[in-house]
Amino acid sequence: MKIAVIGAGSAGLAALRHCTSGAYDCQVICYEKTDQIGGTWVYREEIGVDKYGLPIHTSMYKNLRTNLPKEVMGYPDYPVPDSPESYLTRTQMLNFLKSYCDHFNLRQHIRFLHNVELVEPTNNGDRKWSIKVKDLQRNTVTNESFDAVMVCNGHYFEPSLPKLRGKDIFQGRQMHSHDYRTPEVFADKTVLVIGAGPSGMDLAVDISKKATRVILSHHSRDPIGTVFPDNVIQKPDVKELIENGVIFADGSNESADVVFYCTGYKYNFPFLDEKCGIRVDSNMVTPLWKHLVSTENTSMVLIGLPYYVCAFNMFDLQVRFILKYWFGKKAFPPKANMLREENEELARKLKEGFQKRHFHLMGYEQGKYYDDLANTAEVMPLPPVITKLHNESSMRFLDDLTHYRDRRYKVIDNYNFIQL
Ligand SMILES: Cc1cc2nc3c(=O)[nH]c(=O)nc-3n(C[C@H](O)[C@H](O)[C@H](O)COP(=O)(O)OP(=O)(O)OC[C@H]3O[C@@H](n4cnc5c(N)ncnc54)[C@H](O)[C@@H]3O)c2cc1C
Repeated sequence: MKIAVIGAGSAGLAALRHCTSGAYDCQVICYEKTDQIGGTWVYREEIGVDKYGLPIHTSMYKNLRTNLPKEVMGYPDYPVPDSPESYLTRTQMLNFLKSYCDHFNLRQHIRFLHNVELVEPTNNGDRKWSIKVKDLQRNTVTNESFDAVMVCNGHYFEPSLPKLRGKDIFQGRQMHSHDYRTPEVFADKTVLVIGAGPSGMDLAVDISKKATRVILSHHSRDPIGTVFPDNVIQKPDVKELIENGVIFADGSNESADVVFYCTGYKYNFPFLDEKCGIRVDSNMVTPLWKHLVSTENTSMVLIGLPYYVCAFNMFDLQVRFILKYWFGKKAFPPKANMLREENEELARKLKEGFQKRHFHLMGYEQGKYYDDLANTAEVMPLPPVITKLHNESSMRFLDDLTHYRDRRYKVIDNYNFIQL
């Protein structure tokens, strides 16, 4: 079997690690459009487009420290090495990914500076895939055919921007967190931060070191109960932007120099032809079995869609899951059953008050998702302790944003951790 992996971030590396383990008889090629492994963990100062005219992929910023303890951030068979602190810097995480890549000898399978431009089904009815790739250095394009495709292109690169009244009237700068690198750009400015997800909250704190004032606008009904620096205030949703400021939903107003959108990202697979059968509908990627397998053609999978998860662990599990099916150790259920499962999950989530765009949010449900994958494919499950520690960390984040990263944890067995 010939498998294509698109992207050499932490998901693509997990895909390569298992495809090349020797347990499966396959040939694998990974295409990576940049010159490095690590995806979003690679810090680049540039924003906009790179020297090949391609959009800069990474959303990493200089001062980032992980928002999860390292104890849940490794791979099942390759944990993050021991070190005094639990919450690591971006450089430590990237070094970890490099060591994973080298440990499993994955580099030889990666074609760097190769941008996947198009994936489409071959038109001879053999259910294979044709992939059009551009070698960016040589400026040449080739087409290669594959039996199966693992899409690992990440989902934090395509900004989601709200339609705000007054956007064209506002005279100051407007930017999305995708383009944020250092707080210096906000020195002595009053900054309106829109959105209080994990990145909006973190970034409000990061920029408060340089900005005069940070106004954090969000739609939680009650003020967020965490400890913010003194120059950060909270406001409700934005009603509209005006020339030099903003009017909020409660009628109050503030002046602002910059509008900083921390409004998240959209799933985007610009290289997937319509004929692949994958749609993004209100930010739900569909039709997929278990947030992973294309029901139109099960030889295409999208690794890493669920969020608020123990990402690298989950990527590894998803890859082990699919290889069981692709290599005939398990048989896919009928398409109708896979679709019914997806529909039922959507109906349940809508009933619970989630919107369609939250379909891939796992959070407190992540343990159930991992167990379902492991039980269904009969592969090694993820230890429950990672879900427990993820939940603990999320709670501490909400309690005390400025100090939660001082905590240190130790996993003592598959079920328990202690705080040091
Ligand atoms: C600012 C920020 C902070 C984060 N902090 C944390 C954290 O603390 N803890 C945590 O667990 N997670 C965190 N995450 C989530 C993080 O995205 C995941 O942990 C994980 O790194 C995602 O890996 P990935 O391989 O799916 O995607 P990515 O890391 O985005 O990698 C995708 C790769 O695909 C390549 N690619 C894309 N399109 C093409 C193409 N057409 N052709 C060839 N190659 C292509 C890209 O160049 C890239 O290398 C954070 C994310 C962001 C943006």
